[in-house]
Amino acid sequence: MTRGPSGFASVDPPPAWPPTRSSAGPAKLERGVETLAGVGPTLARKLARLGVRSVGELLLHRPHRYEEAAPERPIRDLSGEDEVAIAGTVVRASSRRTARRLTVQNVRIRDETGEIDAVWFNQPWVADRLTPGTSVRLRGSLSRRGGFQVRSYDVGDDARATADFAPVYPATEDVTPQRLRALVEHALADVDAVPDALPAALRQVEGLPLRRDALAAIHRPRDLGEAETGRRRLAFEELLVLQLGIAGRAREREAAIAPPLGEPGELVARYRTVLPFALTPEQEGAIRELDADLARPVPMQRLLQGDVGSGKTVVALYAVLRAVENRRQGALMAPTETLAEQHFLTIEGLCAELGVRVVLLTSALRTKERTAARAALAAGDAEIAVGTHALIQEEVEFADLAVAVVDEQHRFGVEQRAALAEGRAPHVLHMTATPIPRTLALTVYGDLRVSEISRPPANRKPIVTGWIPEARASEAYTRLRRLLEDGRQAYVVCPLIEESETSRARAAEQEAERLKAGELRGFRVGCLHGRLKPVDRRELMRAFKARELDVLVATTVIEVGVDVPNATVMIVQEADRFGLAQLHQLRGRVGRGAEQSYCLLVSRAADELTENAQERLQAMVDTIDGFELAERDLELRGEGQLLGTRQHGLSDFRFTRLRADRSLLERAKEVAESLEPGPLLQAQVDEVFAAGDAAA
Ligand code: ADP
Ligand code: MG
Repeated sequence: MTRGPSGFASVDPPPAWPPTRSSAGPAKLERGVETLAGVGPTLARKLARLGVRSVGELLLHRPHRYEEAAPERPIRDLSGEDEVAIAGTVVRASSRRTARRLTVQNVRIRDETGEIDAVWFNQPWVADRLTPGTSVRLRGSLSRRGGFQVRSYDVGDDARATADFAPVYPATEDVTPQRLRALVEHALADVDAVPDALPAALRQVEGLPLRRDALAAIHRPRDLGEAETGRRRLAFEELLVLQLGIAGRAREREAAIAPPLGEPGELVARYRTVLPFALTPEQEGAIRELDADLARPVPMQRLLQGDVGSGKTVVALYAVLRAVENRRQGALMAPTETLAEQHFLTIEGLCAELGVRVVLLTSALRTKERTAARAALAAGDAEIAVGTHALIQEEVEFADLAVAVVDEQHRFGVEQRAALAEGRAPHVLHMTATPIPRTLALTVYGDLRVSEISRPPANRKPIVTGWIPEARASEAYTRLRRLLEDGRQAYVVCPLIEESETSRARAAEQEAERLKAGELRGFRVGCLHGRLKPVDRRELMRAFKARELDVLVATTVIEVGVDVPNATVMIVQEADRFGLAQLHQLRGRVGRGAEQSYCLLVSRAADELTENAQERLQAMVDTIDGFELAERDLELRGEGQLLGTRQHGLSDFRFTRLRADRSLLERAKEVAESLEPGPLLQAQVDEVFAAGDAAA
């Protein structure tokens, strides 16, 4: 926390796209929101939580939708349930409390033709504000009970919220949409100060408005077409910045040299025979693609996408073995120790059969072991290193590293910096379970080639997912016990609590104790969390894998990579607190073997959930397809966010809708190939790409 100029604690800004500060806009736009009339420290803090600190950032706060056009009607003529507007004066107002923690505001409105009761829910201040005699304009519809259900309203003649195409901003409980509208209106007074980073000639060719006009249009459109034109202008700039950055990286990389690995040889042929199963056509396809890359003297940069459980690890080991059979080395890097240990457990046996020496490198090792492992890699005695990304990068010197696999890494490219500087680099295979439609990935990642495992091994049965309220949680445990008695194993995921890793760990331990004494009495229950000592965690995972435990109570540390095919049941507690991406990742821990798997989402009661949470849970029940969920997530968030794009080092887009803006993206890519960016544009590129690197 730092002390802001106004004396109150300010939080660190979230990554913004495009970076507003570097756009060198005149100081007007950089003024803090607290300089606007009516914004005190409290409101400023609330706005900061929305990522809005300055006047410029207010202008970038994009409406997520617009009110539709609605006709104004006299009160007497109201009928049906269509959305309409009425205008009149307040006769009287009241607020009352209902049984279920709900308050209802009733305001009697009169115009020349009649009177009606307008109804709000949970907005007690409405009744205070709308004193008798106040003139109001309301937008909403006639309810079945005959009242007027209010969707938005304006006081006085200034119809900003109820007008046709009025912007609706993503608000929070803290800052009402009305408040945001008023603030944005203030900020629009300075919109002329917004500089334009796109060259005039380019704007003309592409038929794009000025940035400032585009911003004005998204906040105050005359119709939806105008708003969309403005949004596309802003999206184009975001995409152009991205493509310029990608093109720059590609140039850096193409200058480097990697060892060409020729044709697949004897070792990988044996590997195929020791695997307990045949590779799927999808896995074979990915292997063909990476073999072609490995044959070239240019460092491979390939992204292997495949939903959780699709069988990426087998492909990863293949890539690493290609290095080994060329008398070079390979590395498998994971984001967490648990995952690194998992990988090690998976490949250790296979490697032993193949006569390949593999070492595990984690901070859990004693100094002596670690030194020995490092020495073995430096001397070329060990051929494969498995470890966390951080550890391998910082500590290990390889005799001759030719292939590196980066699993679930949250950034691309960065790890290459040092090697690139020397003009040599290993081939790199990035793996991710965060699904992005292939066509999009191709364009977004530009120079990164994409392989995709689009289907899991054929012997899988789709995971059966259910969603039940807490009150019926006992049914979930009854079902669980039956499956455990049949010899299956299970995960119970503890609620997502915000606080520290330590309090998450404590909560998980308490829950494990509770279950041992209650629902899971008689079963062998372990508890996995981020505060365990590495040796204990390793032992726990080993025991679970060896079926010495029936149930693993866990925090979200099991989210990635844990692979125990006999674990076929997952119960997620308070599932409504999780995001869709996270639920999907969690669910991927089951359904990894031939047995039928189940995922039971336990949530708070339906009427305590937001609509959004209900839809998330329903989406999980409806489909197990990660790509489909990615699209649903995109819709639910109503923003240009793709499931986990941030994981890939891309900041979230503010204005771009990756799905709808496909052609815009392609155009930006074309333009980026020949455009010499001016200083304003270059500053944006630098900031976006530098920010990403710093985060890695
Ligand atoms: P992920 O893509 O999530 O990393 P894994 O590589 O961990 O998936 O594979 C999930 C499970 O599927 C593992 O238990 C693995 O042994 C198994 N598996 C992988 N490939 C095949 C295949 N071709 N046939 C049958 N099972 C496979
Ligand atoms: Mg995996």
